[in-house]
Amino acid sequence: MDTIPFVDLRAQYHSIRDEVRSAMDDVLDSTQFILGEAVDRFERDFAAYVGVRHAVGVASGLDALSLALQATGVGAGDEVIVPANTFIATALAVSAAGATPVLVDCREDTYQIDPMLVERAITPRTKALMPVHLYGQAADMNALLGIADAHGLDVIEDAAQAHGATFEGRQCGAMGRAGCFSFYPGKNLGAYGDGGCVVTNDEDLAQNLRRLRNYGQRVKYEHACKGTNSRLDSLQAAVLGVKLKRLDAWNAARVAHAARYSRLLVASSVVPPVVDSRSTHVFHLYVIRASRRDELQKHLSDRGIQTGIHYPIPIHQQEAYLGLGQARGCFPVTEKAAQDVLSLPMFPELADGDIDRVVEAIADFE
Ligand SMILES: *Cc1c(COP(=O)(O)O)cnc(C)c1O
Repeated sequence: MDTIPFVDLRAQYHSIRDEVRSAMDDVLDSTQFILGEAVDRFERDFAAYVGVRHAVGVASGLDALSLALQATGVGAGDEVIVPANTFIATALAVSAAGATPVLVDCREDTYQIDPMLVERAITPRTKALMPVHLYGQAADMNALLGIADAHGLDVIEDAAQAHGATFEGRQCGAMGRAGCFSFYPGKNLGAYGDGGCVVTNDEDLAQNLRRLRNYGQRVKYEHACKGTNSRLDSLQAAVLGVKLKRLDAWNAARVAHAARYSRLLVASSVVPPVVDSRSTHVFHLYVIRASRRDELQKHLSDRGIQTGIHYPIPIHQQEAYLGLGQARGCFPVTEKAAQDVLSLPMFPELADGDIDRVVEAIADFE
């Protein structure tokens, strides 16, 4: 019996191997290894894809988030509201910018940050909201943009899991002052190494970001601010350019897999993901809820089916963030999700037969 991997990058690589190698060869032949034409071209293509004026390629999703905060003026003494239920990078980006992450619990149905609780977490020090479009579906952006507007806060979107997802027809990443993407290999648009990007319609912000990622440099050897070295790698930009053309087709494949899972799982005891009808969900992750999650995970693993947990330990319970002083029970919905959620195998090349096998194995467990 073959193993069904949680994510398989091999099949996709083989489908684009020649084109990727030729795009990488072009970079090698040009010897423009830092920024240059490959990065420029990808930035133009990605900005057009998201429907914004500017895209600034950086070294990772984490850097995209922290540089976007710095570029909007967030720093020491400021608070930034982030979901309690997210990958730790969202909070780390706030810390890296010198500010304090203020965690807010999520909704029970979609696991997205709860706008009602956001309102209550605002203080005179709050500078920005950083919603995450978790698992590939948009957060409730109408409510969040309304709150931000009423309180004069910036919205910096963490779209690291939501390349191509929309909310009421608007692209994730294009709704706030800036949108941040990760190109970590397993993301819906993934490089063959680390990479990230900030998108924005704000010309000054984009210029600021271009300086920040490149030593604060205005022109060669003139440094306007204390920047860093966080440039999108030129070889990665070449890979991403090849993959971007296929992103919509790959997302459509994920959506079809999700529909098959959800159709077949209705009769089971696990809870399939809830889709907010205002959002398109691009299923970076297909997350179910199961009451005996750990036993189910082992049951599937014994049958050669790999799964994941996103996320097993909430941020406030991580050793790194014990300093926030938030005890167990502070974010009950997030804490419960950490015990119940299970991510099933999901990638564009997943076969229908594999989905059927996963569903049968789940039925077996009951
Ligand atoms: C992956 C991810 C990041 C960080 O991206 P890296 O490229 O790994 O630094 C940030 N936020 C979320 C929600 C993510 O899933």
